[in-house]
Amino acid sequence: MELNELKELTDINEACIRFGEILGLSKPVPDSVLYAALDDDDYARNLLLSRRSSELMNMLMAQQANYIPKAQQKAKQSGYSNLELIEKLGKSMWKWGLVGFSTVTEDIYDKRLAACRSCDQLEEAPDQLVYNFSLKKNEDKRTCKSCGCVVARKARLTTDTCPLEDTGNPGFNRWGE
Ligand code: SF4
Repeated sequence: MELNELKELTDINEACIRFGEILGLSKPVPDSVLYAALDDDDYARNLLLSRRSSELMNMLMAQQANYIPKAQQKAKQSGYSNLELIEKLGKSMWKWGLVGFSTVTEDIYDKRLAACRSCDQLEEAPDQLVYNFSLKKNEDKRTCKSCGCVVARKARLTTDTCPLEDTGNPGFNRWGE
């Protein structure tokens, strides 16, 4: 599948198939899971990072099996308009595609995590189900106060960056990038 194709999706069924492919599944994701991922970047990221664990993937998908899109929660009768859906799908799936296919080397990952572990922005993770489900038992669950991300996941993705400048090293963030 070419990444360019993701930008051209206009149909919810096709989008479910494509997102299933990105997640390494042999079947489309349910509509509810796609909508939950469209509404919540963190949920989408958790799905992408769970691609190697069918157990985690199943738990995450079950978690949103009955999800109602935000747009529908507000205006009970209609979900996304076609235009909204097309626009949102184009942007999100392009981003998911890039994230899904692109992680940093172990050296860069270790360097980023070491910076986070000595950073004053690191804090214990909030007690939310999604964090507990999406990380392995012994994995570091702490989050960054500045962006709210779990640093052990964030540091893996080429598209993510540290949000704060290193004051001792102007022009670079606290990961030294
Ligand atoms: S991402 Fe940056 S600001 Fe956040 S904890 Fe890591 S080093 Fe600190």
